[in-house]
Amino acid sequence: MDRKSDRDLVERVREQIDIVELISDYILLTPKGRYYVGLCPFHQEKTPSFTVTPDKQIFYCFGCGVGGDIFSFVMKKEGVGFAEALNKLAVRANIPLDNGKAYFREKSEKSELKSKIYRLNTIAARFFYACLTRTEEGKQALEYLYKRGIKKEIIKKFGLGFAPDSWNALGNYLLSKGYDQELIEQAGLIIARKDGNGYFDRFRNRLIYPILDIQGRVCGFGGRTLQNKQPKYLNSPETIVFNKSKILYGLNFAKDEIKRQGTIVLVEGYMDVLSAHQAGCKIAVASLGTALTSEHCRMLASLASNVVLVYDGDSAGGRAALKGIEALKNYDLTIKVCPLPKDTDPDDYIRKYGGEEFLKLIEKAVPFYDFQIENILKINNINILEEKLKAIKLIIPILLGIDNINQRDEYIKKVAQLLKISEENLRLQLKQVGINNKHSLLVKGVKFANNRHTNIKKPSQEVLDAPYKMMTAPVKAQRSLIKLMINNSIYLDYIQSQLSTEHFTHHIYREIFDQFLYLKQQDEEIDLTRMLNRLSEEAKEVFAQLLTEGKDGLELEEKALPDYIECLQEHKYQSQIEKVQRAIEECEKEGRKDEVLQLLVCLQNLKRNSNISSNR
Ligand SMILES: [Zn+2]
Repeated sequence: MDRKSDRDLVERVREQIDIVELISDYILLTPKGRYYVGLCPFHQEKTPSFTVTPDKQIFYCFGCGVGGDIFSFVMKKEGVGFAEALNKLAVRANIPLDNGKAYFREKSEKSELKSKIYRLNTIAARFFYACLTRTEEGKQALEYLYKRGIKKEIIKKFGLGFAPDSWNALGNYLLSKGYDQELIEQAGLIIARKDGNGYFDRFRNRLIYPILDIQGRVCGFGGRTLQNKQPKYLNSPETIVFNKSKILYGLNFAKDEIKRQGTIVLVEGYMDVLSAHQAGCKIAVASLGTALTSEHCRMLASLASNVVLVYDGDSAGGRAALKGIEALKNYDLTIKVCPLPKDTDPDDYIRKYGGEEFLKLIEKAVPFYDFQIENILKINNINILEEKLKAIKLIIPILLGIDNINQRDEYIKKVAQLLKISEENLRLQLKQVGINNKHSLLVKGVKFANNRHTNIKKPSQEVLDAPYKMMTAPVKAQRSLIKLMINNSIYLDYIQSQLSTEHFTHHIYREIFDQFLYLKQQDEEIDLTRMLNRLSEEAKEVFAQLLTEGKDGLELEEKALPDYIECLQEHKYQSQIEKVQRAIEECEKEGRKDEVLQLLVCLQNLKRNSNISSNR
């Protein structure tokens, strides 16, 4: 069956099924303006933040960020793949099922490829392990591990390895085992040379951490340089089996103990996980150098009810922890934080004070609310009236954010004491702010757009703003530009004339922009629902959020359009400049003078262009 009839089936199912009717089978929806709202079926909540927008046939939850179309809903709710969701919905729509078969064929081909890559990765992991433990070359890496206090048992358990300093040691080994080049490349282990002349190994002269998924299959690798080369850590690229936003390092070893204890300890890096496990903290896991995603959080919430974040006590570490908390707060988890002394990561701490002290420290982790309140009181001296008022203003949204009434009551008592004000006074203030916020059920998603220019700062907005504050300016610009394109295709024409795909550096916004360009080539009119269907699940969520926001805050975004474009142009020049500067350094080191001269000319041009764009 050809692709076209597959698409027809999807379209027919979509036409037949109304999303409000479908979701009403699962939860109670009540109309509210242009949405329907209800209690989210994907996270626990007491006030509804789950929305369904009938005219766009999408759903989106402002609480946990889940969103998409009818297919995404069934996939997420029933835990099935696209093919099965399509079949279920086809049955519901009384459409004959024969057409669905093509998806199953595709699916089985896909799962065959997956298991081939898992097998290949396992062979590669064994190769790296042998290089570490049994070769002369591997000794430096082994020494490094011993020096950092990692013992043999842990090296074996986690299957650590070493990638030799060679362009094709692994590639040739795998070829000799009968694997074909294409598969090795698909696994991300070798990279095609730009000149088309063969391949080279991705990991060279690096300590290797095999990355296992929760079922214990080798899905990718992390490599740490042993000679201060950049980047310090190099991961496998995203492959059919490796998706960083779904993997937590160490979880395969930790999951049973996590379930038993009901607690997860989140640390930052590979080495932290190894040290923690060696020290007896067998519930430690780490994300792979990325912020926690909603997938991570869902995984954590399904295994445990308590999360302890352990992080470096300097301010960057604190910010990283807060980032993690923002994502975790939407789930039914008790969050505690455990700051370490400044400039100390868990690995340092364990080496310095030993495993027992580390375990004691984790025992003493403080609840997240206490941590937040303590921080506010650290900055504001409550003996000075102005600062005291400011502290109250900042603490109120935290108290309002506590869903559990008994718990909130406890905190009100505590805070009143700390601030030296009466409980009644505090309760009164809470009530006032609470009433003002009642109408802002949907405010979370439109926050960035509204707040940017008007500077209205209700206390609770600071809390709600947090995810947007974490965005860098170029990412904010990309989000806003996509929002403009969604609302009027005129913007698409203009933006396309000014920017190219490369300007969209965030993978999700780039994917959406690509789809806009693709559909524009195909049709005169862009059909947003058709577009939604072509996006990855990750991009669908973002797209659904933007669609749900609709025209809220659009006027302000329009005014800022030239700024956004300039921001992205400048951002691209800056990253090109950095790239050329790095190349110059490298050529200088290797004494390639001619190339240095060429690159310097190139650099001058870039800098000139960059100035033109920023002075415009
Ligand atoms: Zn939700």
